[in-house]
Formats: sequence, structure tokens, C-alpha cells
Amino acid sequence: MKKRILLLAGGQSGEHEVSLMSARSVLSALPRDQFDVTPVVISKQGRWLPPTETQRALETGEAPTGGDLVLHRAASAEGYDAVFPLLHGPMGEDGTVQGLLTLAGIPFVGSGVLGSAVSMDKIMTKQVLASAGIPQVAWQLVVRRDWQAQPDAVRECAGQLGYPLFVKPANLGSSVGISKVARAEDLDGALNLAFSLDRRVILEAMTAHKPREVEVGILGNDAPIASPVGELRFDADFYDYETKYTEGRASMHIPAPLPPEVAEQVRTLALRAFRALDCAGLARVDFFYVEETGELLLNEVNTMPGFTTTSMYPKLFEAAGLNYSALVTRLVELALEDR
Ligand code: ATP
Ligand code: MG
Ligand code: MG
Ligand code: MG
Repeated sequence: MKKRILLLAGGQSGEHEVSLMSARSVLSALPRDQFDVTPVVISKQGRWLPPTETQRALETGEAPTGGDLVLHRAASAEGYDAVFPLLHGPMGEDGTVQGLLTLAGIPFVGSGVLGSAVSMDKIMTKQVLASAGIPQVAWQLVVRRDWQAQPDAVRECAGQLGYPLFVKPANLGSSVGISKVARAEDLDGALNLAFSLDRRVILEAMTAHKPREVEVGILGNDAPIASPVGELRFDADFYDYETKYTEGRASMHIPAPLPPEVAEQVRTLALRAFRALDCAGLARVDFFYVEETGELLLNEVNTMPGFTTTSMYPKLFEAAGLNYSALVTRLVELALEDR
């Protein structure tokens, strides 16, 4: 019998549009002889759209408003064998939707509540990975109240990390709200931007030199495998939103031209991180490789990485011999696996 799959896309985060792009690719790739796929787009207001509005949102690439209350519509998810929550960012990739599906007793693709929540939060990720002995840049946590009540203490703390530094909302993706701050004078603006998007902000020391950016895909549950390592190259100060999503601004190199022992280290550290964070199904683990010093630093773990046919994660597994449609099929199998 065909498996009935509910594909969730869109969502409330700044990555709503990116999610719809990913969803279009997955929709056309899930083999129809094995799966009955129903897409449901979640509007930016967080409401689940009925079929005609979902269709319209997939075509236009966004759904600013509309839809039914989530709990109302989630009950109808009961008739599905599995859910593919193809949502990026808060209220989708962060354990919230995963919690809802867990309560409803429906298997779903990707990490559970814990792995999703910890990996979405850059501060929690850094704390867990530090205790697992994984190398990372120096960093500091700032909460909005600190910034409001003691701005000088926050500026001082940034000064200790040194400039340039990165200011990031703790829970976001696609570089939304991230600034590279070259001088102390630009710190306030960067913090105000990040705090407009999140209550918690991370300040990160920049790598000693502009790093090479290498990424690896992980696939599996408790016996995961690592893909070949890929590299992103782009002509920009850092990998910001515009560079990520403007055609032709970045290029992917698979496999990354790295010394073999560095590539092996990337794969080993990524598997360790996946395990430490209790990830499941899939993750894309991103690293900085500082060629000048030979340092390899883990940047972050994305539990629902970009998933268009030209995105890094599917391309990495394609290089390992698993094409896009075999990959999404495998992800659904992993969701249904007894653990
Ligand atoms: P994604 O879309 O992969 O989820 P994100 O929004 O979670 O990304 P990061 O990966 O943390 O954001 O940072 C975005 C980019 O900023 C990186 O790819 C890199 O180009 C640059 N960057 C971030 N932190 C640092 C750092 N500490 N040192 C050097 N470059 C950095
Ligand atoms: Mg990220
Ligand atoms: Mg992300
Ligand atoms: Mg990233």
C-alpha cells in the first residue's frame, strides 16, 4: 500500500520562502508509485492553509496570511503514515512542530524535539558541542534584557572577543539577522537588528582569517553515515542571505579540495556532533576551515537544511550515489524506522 505523507512547508520564520522552494522540489521527487503526498503550507501567521490556498502559496512562493489554527488542522494529520516537516527556522525546525507531531503520535522526518531544539539554538549547540570536545570559535551569550539594562557591559564583552566579530540571533537561519561587525561603532546597530528577531543573541569571534566553508551531510538515525565533504565559494564578505539565494553568487565544490585527513576529520566531527545533539534522520553540519592555521572549527548544525534539487545537502548525497528521489524516500523510511 502507498504511504500517505503530509508535507509541511512555509512556516512563520524568516525562512518561509526558502521552505516553499525546498517543498516544490520534494513534492515533485517523492515517487508517486510509493507515496500519496499532501502538501500543507503554513502561513507566516502560523496557520495551516486548506488545499486551494496551499496550492496558490506553492505557486506564488509565499503565504503571508490566511489559514486555520494549527491545533484545529493538526488533528487531520492523524490519517497520515508520516509527516515531512520541511520547515526552516523557528516554529518548524526548532522542536515545536516536532512536539506537536510527537503528541499526535505521527512519525516524522528528521530530528525529534530535543535534537531540533538544541541544534536550532546556536548557544545550546555550542554548549553541548563544547562538552563533547568539538572545536569552535569563542563566543558569548547576550539576552535582550542585558542589552537594555547594561549596554556598556555588553559592549565590553564584545570588545573582549575582538573585532571583527559576528552578531547572530540565537535561533534563526539563512543568515537572517546576522551581521559581521568590523568596528566597535557598528556594534549597536548589529545588536538592535539581532534583538529585533530573537530574545537571545550570540556574539562570535571571527576565525583568525577568512575561513573556507565546508559542509557535510549526515543521514541515518542511530547508525548514521556521513556524505563526502562539500565546499562553498562565494564573492562576498561572508555568506549572507543575498549571496545564498541569488542565482550565480555562490558555487558548490563536491568533493571539496581538501587534504584527505582534513576531510576525514570533518566527517568524524560531524558524526560526533550529530550524536551529541541527539539528531535523527538528517543534518547538514557546517565547518570553518582556516587554511593558514590548519584549524577546523564546527560552525553549526542544520537539522532541516535547504532542500531544493540544487541545495548542498541533496548534492552531497548525490555525490555518494544517492539521487534526490532515492534520498527523500530514504528519509521517509528512516522516519518510519523502529528505534
Ligand atoms: P544557515 O542558512 O546555514 O542555517 P545561519 O543563518 O545559521 O546559516 P551561520 O552559518 O551561523 O548562519 O552564519 C552565516 C555565515 O556567516 C557563515 O556561513 C559564514 O560565512 C559567516 N560566519 C558566521 N560566523 C562566523 C565566524 N565566527 N567566523 C567567520 N565567519 C562566520
Ligand atoms: Mg543555520
Ligand atoms: Mg539553517
Ligand atoms: Mg550556516
